[in-house]
Amino acid sequence: MIKAIADLKSRITNTKSIVITTHVSPDGDAIGSSLGLYHFLKQQNIKAQVVVPNAFPKFLMWLEGSESIIVFDQDSEKAKELIQQADLIFGLDYNETNRTAKMQDSIDASSAYKVLIDHHIGEPTWPDLNLSVVGASSTCELVLDFISAYSGDNIQLTSDMAYCIYTGLLTDTGNFQFSATTPKVHIQAAQLIEAGVEADVVHNHINNSFDKQRLQFFGFCVSERLKILKDKKIAYLALSQGDMRQYNVQTGGTEGLVNEPMKIADIDVSILMKEDEGKVKMSFRSKRAIDISVFAKKYFSGGGHRNAAGGISFKNLEDTERDLLQYLEEFNIR
Ligand code: 5GP
Ligand code: MN
Repeated sequence: MIKAIADLKSRITNTKSIVITTHVSPDGDAIGSSLGLYHFLKQQNIKAQVVVPNAFPKFLMWLEGSESIIVFDQDSEKAKELIQQADLIFGLDYNETNRTAKMQDSIDASSAYKVLIDHHIGEPTWPDLNLSVVGASSTCELVLDFISAYSGDNIQLTSDMAYCIYTGLLTDTGNFQFSATTPKVHIQAAQLIEAGVEADVVHNHINNSFDKQRLQFFGFCVSERLKILKDKKIAYLALSQGDMRQYNVQTGGTEGLVNEPMKIADIDVSILMKEDEGKVKMSFRSKRAIDISVFAKKYFSGGGHRNAAGGISFKNLEDTERDLLQYLEEFNIR
């Protein structure tokens, strides 16, 4: 690891153009890790450009540097050009390039040196250097490890870096509640608070930034759409495009919704189905020993982590729901 970092350091200092990429529908860990690394490289006098596949939620737009992010969907010519010209590409918070959606072709075609920092289950062979740790709490945890290894005794965390990295720790651990919340995560959080993070500021931006309509939408989902399977400890929500239109749901507006049914003591698995044009996006959550990523991979071409995974169905909402019920019968979750 140390040798790999030393090699990368000499490579980075001789690199002309660095692009930092992350997965589609970027979340707090995706944007936090990308911007955390961006601020760190800037501190080292190394210019890098963050390029993301599509829009990210408003509740992340307060992060310093977020205004400089190029969104592929909105500026694809510029994004393609940046990726094409890059001689080093960081991939953060994904391990299969198809997770970068429309950006995939450009990344796959690029001959740049590719460095991956990720924590999802998988054994990718495409990166030239893989600094991933499967099971780590977040990519932000690993970016902070990277910064520490790179800086050695000269580490100087700025508050910009710290806010970005803290955001990913907070969001990917579900506010420091999931099982990946190790002593190390708390030590890192302490380090970030020492570097200037005010924990309540991050928490308010991320968790207490709903507008009234979004809260009412959550209420509607819980009261009108929540289904609990008899004899099973499984809850699911199937949302149509009409449901989301009715409440004017914005980018990131359903973030956290899949966690709501988990608040019920007996529920061990929660599933969110979100209808989109020609597809249904699936989110899965589970408690403790239940590895829901296996189910997501087997039936919905997805993956992720043991207790939080995603996937996709190309059928309509009704058929997807029927499939889901059948797969749940077939796959004995326990
Ligand atoms: P979420 O449900 O919050 O969208 O995603 C939960 C976790 O699963 C995240 O770590 C996310 O990166 C991953 N994930 C979400 N959708 C997919 C997917 O379609 N394929 C794979 N491999 N992972 C996914
Ligand atoms: Mn992550």
